[in-house]
Amino acid sequence: MSKDIATPVRTKEILQKHGFTFKKSLGQNFLIDTNILQQIVQAAGVTNKKAVIEVGPGIGALTEQIAKSAGQVLAFEIDQRLLPILQETLAPYPHVKVVHQDILEADIGRIIEEQLTEYESLSVVANLPYYVTTPILFHLLESGVRFEHIVVMIQKEVAERIAAKPGTKDYGSLSIAVQYYAESKVEKIIPKTVFIPQPNVDSAVLKLTLRDKPPVQVNDEAFFFRLIKASFAQRRKTLLNNLLHNLVAKDQKEELLQLLDHVQIDPTRRGETLTMEEYARLSNELQKIVG
Ligand code: SAM
Repeated sequence: MSKDIATPVRTKEILQKHGFTFKKSLGQNFLIDTNILQQIVQAAGVTNKKAVIEVGPGIGALTEQIAKSAGQVLAFEIDQRLLPILQETLAPYPHVKVVHQDILEADIGRIIEEQLTEYESLSVVANLPYYVTTPILFHLLESGVRFEHIVVMIQKEVAERIAAKPGTKDYGSLSIAVQYYAESKVEKIIPKTVFIPQPNVDSAVLKLTLRDKPPVQVNDEAFFFRLIKASFAQRRKTLLNNLLHNLVAKDQKEELLQLLDHVQIDPTRRGETLTMEEYARLSNELQKIVG
């Protein structure tokens, strides 16, 4: 039996054999540490009754470790040059399907329906291309597909912002937007040395556990997300100033102050001190005076 793909020797052999050159523009940093890959798969609780979606299989390093535990794997890869390589490296795993597609363009729900058969639950496990981390996460979260977990390797700084609690320096619109859909936890910090080529930033494994329903009652989700964005537009400004600059007309200042008083939120607070519950309360009231 051949060595795992994710060993430095085998990876170099595969790359050399196919004359593969990395495309920085596609965020191609491949993992060469089997232990770390196994920890990622374990964090997602993958079993043979479960199906897994992978984004960006590369030469199949993580795909292989997922395939050892999962019942079915469906991987989306944008780079055409990797398809013949994957066909060869993943040949021992017939329950893996590779789709040549930009995940951001994919109708994920439809492709899952077409490509996967019965499964107990579905999760995403991926070492994401860092240039599109947040668009991919939102594409998955907003897809309407009922994922159990999303376990991804991403930039450490982004993982910390996503999992941050109110009142901390990392807490921001990204934390609230993701936490609206999922419980978020940084599982592990990963050094640059386990990738080739090495990225410029440290990485982390982020685990999202999707909620059955949002933790707060929001009447208009689009407005709720607009409010959050506006409240964090300039971190050093008070909530009042951010809202007057980015969401509420200046001549509605008095009305806004009364409304903040009514929902019991001090206008001099900064956006990062408000909890999701406070944003929901504010959103449901503010929506009535903002078009
Ligand atoms: N999974 C492999 C590993 O861990 O070694 C490779 C991970 S590498 C960080 C990211 C992978 O995502 C690359 O294979 C890249 O070609 C692919 N990719 C980049 N943008 C993509 C997109 N929009 N849709 C699908 N795959 C993409």
